[in-house]
Amino acid sequence: MNILFMGPPGAGKGTQAERIVEEFDIPHISTGDAFRLAMKQGTPLGQKAKEYVDQGLLVPDDVTNGIVRERLQQDDCAAGFLLDGFPRTISQAEALDEMLAGMNRKLDHVINLKVDRSLLLARLTGRRICKSCGSTYHVLFNPPVEEGVCAKCGGELYQRSDDTEEKVGTRLDEYISKTAPLLAYYDKQDLLREVDGEKEIDTVTAEIADCLRGTE
Ligand code: ADP
Ligand code: AMP
Repeated sequence: MNILFMGPPGAGKGTQAERIVEEFDIPHISTGDAFRLAMKQGTPLGQKAKEYVDQGLLVPDDVTNGIVRERLQQDDCAAGFLLDGFPRTISQAEALDEMLAGMNRKLDHVINLKVDRSLLLARLTGRRICKSCGSTYHVLFNPPVEEGVCAKCGGELYQRSDDTEEKVGTRLDEYISKTAPLLAYYDKQDLLREVDGEKEIDTVTAEIADCLRGTE
């Protein structure tokens, strides 16, 4: 199953992706995770991405498309994949269509997690991530049992450097001007499904799974 998660920063894409990839046994492809890993490793890609990520701006399309093109060709994507955070521009969406057409494949589901902008700042500034396994928590809405410690693997939790109030403002503006137009792009292709991302995490997971199974 070839799935795409859409929604503004903080909508819950990563949180839901962790659960859905387990249930459907497909790889989770997050361009944000790929950039953060490259930045940590200090690779040329990481250095390039850092110029943009640190400012809350989108990384240029050619850089981003290259990562996804390579990743989709790996063997573990043969039975399907879940894309999270890509595409984020019309030009990336067109590039994805081309990549998939070249592999004789297509998207099966585009799920849009709807969350009002007024909730996103609190979600993003309270987000904490495990340094070891990447699991996502929230200091208030989804806290780990022990503060600062991952409940799944015992790893240390950290706060992303772009989850500050100032950067969140820029990231949300980027979403509205460059990414939100993609909703109409996928709606026209009759692929778009809306899920209320403001509900409890478990409820959202169940609603997404229903959409994917066609049982909603
Ligand atoms: P995204 O990947 O879309 O940027 P995340 O999955 O990282 O968003 O979620 C952003 C923050 O909001 C995290 O701290 C997460 O724990 C929290 N969160 C996610 N889904 C919900 C929800 N349904 N209700 C409350 N908080 C949530
Ligand atoms: P995310 O982890 O999805 O919140 O992404 C973190 C940051 O990585 C974004 O603010 C962008 O700077 C960059 N990024 C992630 N995905 C993309 C994309 N598809 N296109 C451009 N930039 C991206």
